[in-house]
Amino acid sequence: MLAVRMHRLGGPDVLEVEEIADPVPGPEDLLVRVQATSVNRRDLWIRAGHPHPAYRVPLPAILGIDLCATVIASGESVNRFADGQRITINPYITCGRCENCRRERSQYCEDFDVFHGAYAELALVPQSLAVPVAADVPVEHVACFANSYITAWQMLVGKAHVGPDDVVFVWAGTSGLGSAAVEIARLAGARVIASAGGERKRAVAAGLSPDLVVDHHAEDVVERVLEYTDGRGATIVFEHVGTATWTRSLELCALGGTIVSAGATSGDEVTMDVTAMFVKQLRILGSRLGTMEDALAAIRHFDSGRFRPLVAEVLPLERVADGHRLLEQGAVAGKVVIRVSD
Ligand SMILES: [Zn+2]
Repeated sequence: MLAVRMHRLGGPDVLEVEEIADPVPGPEDLLVRVQATSVNRRDLWIRAGHPHPAYRVPLPAILGIDLCATVIASGESVNRFADGQRITINPYITCGRCENCRRERSQYCEDFDVFHGAYAELALVPQSLAVPVAADVPVEHVACFANSYITAWQMLVGKAHVGPDDVVFVWAGTSGLGSAAVEIARLAGARVIASAGGERKRAVAAGLSPDLVVDHHAEDVVERVLEYTDGRGATIVFEHVGTATWTRSLELCALGGTIVSAGATSGDEVTMDVTAMFVKQLRILGSRLGTMEDALAAIRHFDSGRFRPLVAEVLPLERVADGHRLLEQGAVAGKVVIRVSD
């Protein structure tokens, strides 16, 4: 099969297109033909050698955690999926043995792993991670599901308990994660404010129908949010940017509000006015990926056509490295999808 592998850490050039042996399914595996995947920040961090151990993988590695695929063969213990079935994935692999897993708190698994291997014509998916998806959902949409929608669902529904009384502020509303958050917050009946940088991204963000779009390059975001909320601020701040936005997240968050974070695309280091934080009685919640419960809840809204991911570019498998460059440059509004087969 054709696959894009990396043998060492580095820039996009380390992603090499290679012909390698087809994978052979173990007893619990589905062998799937990949129709599409997409590029995530996580892939860039792994490729470049992010210092956090959560971003280390054994080399050589085939990256790619998003998946739209068809089952073509199964291991002998597979009993919940059949050949020809269309699937996507929840890439979060829990150990099933640690105390948190045994107490049904698998979101906090002490020995978790994350699936990767979708930058290829074929992949192995343990049946425990596979998520059925309706046949009529566009391939490119399914390819945007796993990383963005499951993560955003866990953040907003699982952690922040979003509801109709909330005003949700979403940084970078045209990013994969940000655009998923706008859709989920709207579905929950919340009022939604999305930020976007520059005129083009602002127009794309407006297409997701938030209640307000603010330009984080041209406008005073804190002032706009306070103005829109009669001085109260946002009850939920959707953070995934880090260094560049953290101070403003604190400032625009309402009394008793929640900042939920699952990423630091602009950097990990922030300074924080602790007094401002505790006087406001803020909740600061960390999050990563999501449970199978999140995945199954979120996929229903794909099946019904309610969620329509923002797709910026569709590239063939051979151009995964270009996809990494596009995301690194920050020029794309939406996801970079890799179309592997029909
Ligand atoms: Zn565990």
